[in-house]
Amino acid sequence: MTASVCIIGSGYSAAALTLHLLTRGMPADRLAIVGPGQLGQGQAYGCVSDNFRLNVRAGLMRLWPDQPDHFAEWAAVNVADDPNARTDAGDFFRRRDFAAYMADQLASFASITDISRYGQRAECLSQVAEGWRITLDDGTALTASQVVIATGNPAPDWPMKNPPADAPGLVRVPWRGDWPERIAPDAEVVIIGGGLTALDALHSLHKRSHHGSVSLICPEGMLPPVQTNWQNATPLRWPTPLRGSGFLRFMRRNIGDGDWSRTEWQRRFESLRMNISTAWQSLPEDDQARLMRRMGWLWSLARFRAGPQATGSAQVMLDSGQLTIRRDIVTGLTAGADTTRHLVSLGTGRRIEADAVINCSGAGRDRLMARLIDDGVIAAHDTAPHRPRMTTTLTLVGPDGTAHDDLYAIGPGTAHVVGDILGAASISRQAATLADRLAADT
Ligand SMILES: Cc1cc2nc3c(=O)[nH]c(=O)nc-3n(C[C@H](O)[C@H](O)[C@H](O)COP(=O)(O)OP(=O)(O)OC[C@H]3O[C@@H](n4cnc5c(N)ncnc54)[C@H](O)[C@@H]3O)c2cc1C
Repeated sequence: MTASVCIIGSGYSAAALTLHLLTRGMPADRLAIVGPGQLGQGQAYGCVSDNFRLNVRAGLMRLWPDQPDHFAEWAAVNVADDPNARTDAGDFFRRRDFAAYMADQLASFASITDISRYGQRAECLSQVAEGWRITLDDGTALTASQVVIATGNPAPDWPMKNPPADAPGLVRVPWRGDWPERIAPDAEVVIIGGGLTALDALHSLHKRSHHGSVSLICPEGMLPPVQTNWQNATPLRWPTPLRGSGFLRFMRRNIGDGDWSRTEWQRRFESLRMNISTAWQSLPEDDQARLMRRMGWLWSLARFRAGPQATGSAQVMLDSGQLTIRRDIVTGLTAGADTTRHLVSLGTGRRIEADAVINCSGAGRDRLMARLIDDGVIAAHDTAPHRPRMTTTLTLVGPDGTAHDDLYAIGPGTAHVVGDILGAASISRQAATLADRLAADT
């Protein structure tokens, strides 16, 4: 049977799209979903550690755009065993609680079991008379009239040319939170990267009473600011037409020179962010690339603020001298003479020995997208060549420049074209818009 819609990916984006399609009357037995694990968990929420928390307060984890407090209200009833969630900046629940919420939302549709589920990974796509043939990694194939790629955050790779082989103490993919118990309490630890995953790692180590030294290496030499309890951000209207310089000027004018750790700074930033994706889409591609090169790192630091629990742990570790933050980049990682010790080489020439190295350097490359580009099914983006060329209506573009009107992508992998589609709320809004279109076409 040919499915009307096949979603490739089994994380939050796939689950949000599924829910929005079902609420629009899409028959569940016309849907196929390809991807491992429990639908809705993915890399972000398929997390086993209680110390890995959501990095925004519950009221901002918005699956249903018209019911903004839905998760917060669900959590108030269903999460009874987490007194540490409450902070002055709001409630920051465990990531696994959000996975439970997603499972609950999916289970509320009786027809959910009628969806055809494939636990394999999709390997390649080819056009056929019915639409698309999707070949899975065990050789199985299925066909669908329309395909949506929701492969999200590819597992991180080591950020150096000659990556090390797997070895005890080396954590290449830290997102599941299944590694802290393997680190001895007195181990010397190196953390590569200084974003939210690094904060999760620090929080976990601290909560497990880790007492070995921790060196955190990141080019910025600082950690992200903490979330504040900002309220009442009013969406700002961005000027049009815009070039990169005007984009920056508008941001500077509206944020001002204040201290970014303050609530008012974040309130202003959030006001800018509400319509930023539309403004971003109106920029010429070269301006987008230039802005990303010059300001991407600063944007990421300001955009991805840490939960208060993780920031609190990092501060304790800094104050006690246990944690050192080095402004540097990691250029090499090799096993030392004793293979349980690892040698971390830095851009400045320095070398650090460690018992454990945690890779918090961010998402890797999407293998399916790379394969589709290599196979000539889709074109590469001009300024982000490992990502697909696509339209702002989320269709992927073929090598001849024609948009495939039955092949879409959603989620974080679309951010290079559509802007800030990275958090749960914006992904769900994107999924709702796409569901309108898919439901109308079916
Ligand atoms: C560690 C982490 C924590 C985060 N925390 C928050 C937070 O607290 N709040 C917030 O708003 N946002 C958070 N985010 C942002 C996050 O990107 C989104 O919320 C969301 O999880 C993205 O979902 P996704 O399904 O697109 O991607 P993913 O979660 O990466 O899921 C993609 C899924 O697709 C599967 N897949 C990949 N390739 C294939 C293939 N070829 N075939 C089949 N299946 C495939 C993967 O196995 C995976 O299950 C976090 C992100 C990460 C990575």
